[in-house]
Amino acid sequence: MRRLCLILALGLLATACRAGSTEPVTAVQRPVATTTTIPVTTTTEPPTTTTTLPPTPTTVPEQPSADPPPPPPDRSIPAAMMGALVIAEGGADLFFDRTADPYVRAHEGLVFPVIERDDEWLQVLDQCNDPGWVLFDEVAFSAARRDDSRVGAGMEFSDAVVVVDPGHGGPNVGAVGPAGLVEKVVNLDIARRLRDLLRRPHTVDWESGEIFNGSAIPAAGQVWMTRQEGPEGADIETGLTFRTTLSDSLNAHALVSIHNNAAPDGPFEGPGSEVYYKVADLESKRLSGLVVEELRQEFSAFEAAWVGADDAGAKVRVGTDGVDLYGILRQSDAPSVIVEGVYISNESEEALLGTAEFRQAYADAVYRALVRFVTTDEDGSGFVDTEPFTGGLSSGRPAGTCSVPAQPEATP
Ligand SMILES: [Zn+2]
Repeated sequence: MRRLCLILALGLLATACRAGSTEPVTAVQRPVATTTTIPVTTTTEPPTTTTTLPPTPTTVPEQPSADPPPPPPDRSIPAAMMGALVIAEGGADLFFDRTADPYVRAHEGLVFPVIERDDEWLQVLDQCNDPGWVLFDEVAFSAARRDDSRVGAGMEFSDAVVVVDPGHGGPNVGAVGPAGLVEKVVNLDIARRLRDLLRRPHTVDWESGEIFNGSAIPAAGQVWMTRQEGPEGADIETGLTFRTTLSDSLNAHALVSIHNNAAPDGPFEGPGSEVYYKVADLESKRLSGLVVEELRQEFSAFEAAWVGADDAGAKVRVGTDGVDLYGILRQSDAPSVIVEGVYISNESEEALLGTAEFRQAYADAVYRALVRFVTTDEDGSGFVDTEPFTGGLSSGRPAGTCSVPAQPEATP
């Protein structure tokens, strides 16, 4: 009963696990946290010498954490050719041609995959899918490509390398709800909440799904975001090839793309969550089943006039040639999934997505799925068969107007 108040086991203390919200909700009943007061009884027993503190439930933050500030330049570049870097404070010049002028002074805090190295030069792929060169004394080289290791029972979560991909960004806004909620904004907020969960240790009550501040599950080894701070709060255009190259250059254990859906088939008896996996990758399939299972459990605690597709669940989207149609899945080497949590195009589900509580619930579910994916051999559930897709899909290529966010001129 994770939505209800958690009564702590000492019998002396009760606390509400979720703060109530005051914003109006249209046609949606969200679970309400109630505060239970248990009278404190006096006892004549002597105090015990050891005290076991109950786990502290996490609270729903109104906003996820801001992106971290850029680290200082690190001149001890690792020997590895590939990995990822972060633009250091003050920005860094990017060059198409190392003998010509830079094409942009890239904004501090931006993340780039490193695809090549030539002495003190690093070649990166930029957000518009163009290769550019940067001098390494202007960047913080943050991570080399990890060694090979496979996920599953026996693996430590502290070794996991996870890439979180907030869908859309910049002029590519994604779907827009009837009340005007924009998918790219919601996706980024959920992705940041997921990143915050992955970067800290927790304890999970696997019966209820509740996530506590605790130490049973360590922080993931590395967590990267494909849209990280630049100007305007990481609302930047980012090509699909950039996203998958970042994941591949780190040799990530998992790439999770966060989206919300549009164009359902009709009313649905529960949450119509969909998760797409790579057709030829059993680990991607396993991850999709775990995400579907956790999302259904999590979202079922909310009430809405749900909608869905007839084939909702964990599935592939392939063309008549049997090849993955979604570029994120087709191009990436890592076990990858595209998560379509709920329908932002449905007024009732859009209202849910407007709340911090529901966005946190979405992130909580994907977090638990990732912990299970990395540290167990479980398969999840909700797999459905699909027909080859013959409709049109957007290309995912950045628009002709795409540009790398530039560092503002320093004001004297
Ligand atoms: Zn989307």
